[in-house]
Amino acid sequence: MLFRSEAAAAQVGNQACFYHEQDRTPWRERARENLKLAEDLESALASDQFFLQYQPQVHLDTQQVYGCEALMRWTHPTLGSIPPDRFIPIAEERDLIHRVGQKALALACAQAVAWQQAGLPEILMCVNVSHTEIQHPDFENSVRSALEASGLSPRLLELEVTESVFATDLGQSEANLEKIQRLGVRLAIDDFGTGYSSLAQLSQLSFNRLKIDKSFVHDLASGGDQSVILGILLIAEALGKTVVAEGVETDVEAQILRAMGCNVVQGYLYARPESPDNFQAFVETINRVSSSERRRSRVRVTVGTHAFDQAGTVSHAVSAYQAAHSDVGVVHQVHRNLKCRSLFKAGDLDLAVISSVPGIDEDLVPVRAWE
Ligand code: C2E
Ligand code: CA
Ligand code: CA
Repeated sequence: MLFRSEAAAAQVGNQACFYHEQDRTPWRERARENLKLAEDLESALASDQFFLQYQPQVHLDTQQVYGCEALMRWTHPTLGSIPPDRFIPIAEERDLIHRVGQKALALACAQAVAWQQAGLPEILMCVNVSHTEIQHPDFENSVRSALEASGLSPRLLELEVTESVFATDLGQSEANLEKIQRLGVRLAIDDFGTGYSSLAQLSQLSFNRLKIDKSFVHDLASGGDQSVILGILLIAEALGKTVVAEGVETDVEAQILRAMGCNVVQGYLYARPESPDNFQAFVETINRVSSSERRRSRVRVTVGTHAFDQAGTVSHAVSAYQAAHSDVGVVHQVHRNLKCRSLFKAGDLDLAVISSVPGIDEDLVPVRAWE
């Protein structure tokens, strides 16, 4: 899409000046740069201009690092840092995406093993693969060689594919994905909820995790609609898959997700994508802090809310309480209304925040006000 600057257009008189929507670089300059990137891509692949940064995925129950996403970076010698959203489409156009993918897989697998050798616990390594890459006849070989060259156990590698995989010839992609799953490698559907995959397609493809897109997470804390995330969680549960939410930026978002049953999260709240050394330091710190916090939190209070109306308010209150009382562990869960009631009655919840219906819920005593 084009962005037209009124002021710039005025300066050049009748000549319209078009700007790129994202960074407002003049369109012609952007096109020239893209051509240069396309020309330089092949030689850059042979040098060390491409590298990976790693962003942690944190397990909310243990507060330990569960996995990481490897994100490709390109530092161009004259144009500087080029974001992947820009060079991945060029690599796809120029038929070089398979080589970018091979590089990502080789670097990521080698890094996972290097961290293990440095004493870190096992961490799931998640690597993005584009749908054109999956269709390449050599796709399975790239995955296999990255595993063999590094010695990484296949169960510690997860490939992230977007729903666009369903938009193309699923036959070829499916065959290749089946081959890599036979190696023991895991598969996740990235940006889930933003594409057009049907439930029939989802059940046709064998995969392990659904990755909830950040656009749905951003709506959470602002009191936005939680129903999409609840829907995704229900689909995942029905299909027997696990979930991870990306783009988690605030404590309240993490609390709400956890309360809804999504236990693994990734986002700026924990860390931005980092160099291998910074990532290692992050894991060492967070694992040390969380184990000492677990020792301190002897008292545990379990709070239940029923979906939709109160989850956000209660999560805010839980965060504030936790900040002031680090010696008490508060677990907040969101259940559908009836389940919340039965858990409270069975004594599994210490506190339930439920809108009760007079005459029907009279057995739900004691009724306490949330302070
Ligand atoms: P993605 O797979 O959806 O990756 C997540 C993006 O969200 C990353 O952007 C990450 O830096 C960003 N992010 C993480 N946490 C937060 C947060 O809390 N808030 C916000 N606003 N953003 C957050 P990045 O690194 O610019 O990557 C963009 C896209 O480029 C990726 O989106 C992925 O589709 C693609 N990509 C990156 N590396 C590779 C690769 O090695 N191969 C392929 N095929 N695609 C890649
Ligand atoms: Ca991804
Ligand atoms: Ca994503």
